[in-house]
Amino acid sequence: MPTPTSTSSAPTAVAGAAVASAPVVFTRARLLTMCTGAIEGHDSIAAVDGRIAAIGGPAELRHRFPDAELVDLEGRLVTPGLIDCHTHIVYGGDRSAEMERRLAGESYESIARAGGGILSTAAATARLTESELAAAALPRIDALLADGVTTLEIKSGYGLELEVELRCLRAARRIATLRPLSVSTTYLAAHVVPPQFPGGSDGYVEQICSHYLPAIAASGLADAVDAYCETIAFSVDQVARVFERARALRLPVKLHADQLSNMHGAALAARCGALSADHLEFTDADGIAAMARAGTVAVLLPGAFYFLRQQQAPPVRALRQAGVPMAIASDCNPGTSPMSSLLAAMNLAAVEFGLSTDECLAGVTRAAARALGVLADRGSLEVGKSCDLAIWNVEQPAALVYSLGSRPLYQRVWRGARLPAPGAATCSI
Ligand SMILES: [Zn+2]
Repeated sequence: MPTPTSTSSAPTAVAGAAVASAPVVFTRARLLTMCTGAIEGHDSIAAVDGRIAAIGGPAELRHRFPDAELVDLEGRLVTPGLIDCHTHIVYGGDRSAEMERRLAGESYESIARAGGGILSTAAATARLTESELAAAALPRIDALLADGVTTLEIKSGYGLELEVELRCLRAARRIATLRPLSVSTTYLAAHVVPPQFPGGSDGYVEQICSHYLPAIAASGLADAVDAYCETIAFSVDQVARVFERARALRLPVKLHADQLSNMHGAALAARCGALSADHLEFTDADGIAAMARAGTVAVLLPGAFYFLRQQQAPPVRALRQAGVPMAIASDCNPGTSPMSSLLAAMNLAAVEFGLSTDECLAGVTRAAARALGVLADRGSLEVGKSCDLAIWNVEQPAALVYSLGSRPLYQRVWRGARLPAPGAATCSI
């Protein structure tokens, strides 16, 4: 496969490992810190060694950091850099033909049972090298960067065999060296049973627990472990076995839960101390109560809901009433959410699920950081946290949720480094 060259206009000039060490003071900013949900009185923020060193008035910060470069943001809105906490963005192949089948009336389950769906992506993924997998993902990554994303979760799961799963995780880590963003990697251990696997799904789960998970843990390539609990995937008992082994290996867990039916996956995730339970269209009251008790984040994925033309939305009102944090993610994947826009996901979460604009903004900042276990470092503008910013050409925060297809980003800041505005740079691998 030829190596694709992205012609996206997203900012890409800074290598992934770059961190600004020279002090910078951003002034005349309208800061939406996501600590209180309101635009606070201070208008300046200082970054030193890639971290937020101070938030205050311009005179105060200029006095405290006399050698800092001053950057006048001319009254622009500044939010924490956005966090996409659920993607399957590393894969091979193209599933656009499946859309025609679905439009003709075939269901996702039917296509999956007939060897399409995840298995076709798995076959295409296995044919690519690590660098080809990373290169194939870059146009999608660049689209997310142009939406102000500074932290991205990337799952494996299309590899199925250990060697390809490791390759996908290495490709995900490689992306963090090719583009200026933070990447959290997740080993999606139980996604689909490989065809003709000896012992069927139970045999595959045994293989995951006895061989794959220890090897993944030893590789250091995964920040968390995920599974797909569904009638067409893995049962509650099977996922529980995977999670027990993962936790014994000190890997945090998260779960695709209750997307197409009520498998009581949310309750399982909560019982296992999962960081998040994701999808949740069919989660019941017991599952919500369990998530609230355990502090498990609800990751809502409106792109898949929309693309599959599902009828039953997640129980947002009950999640809200129970105080369960709600994150929003793109779920970027080739089968059920071919969407490379977190701003579009926010719009869909508002229109399809009824989230408020404040909830949408929290869903891609604070709650998303919590879903990845990085809230101490990211997700809000607070002294000591990583200086990841999204600077916007909008009057009101609600404008980030309101429109579809606009390009409101002025500039990203990742670890204190200012990155070229979209449109200012042509990127290459
Ligand atoms: Zn997913």
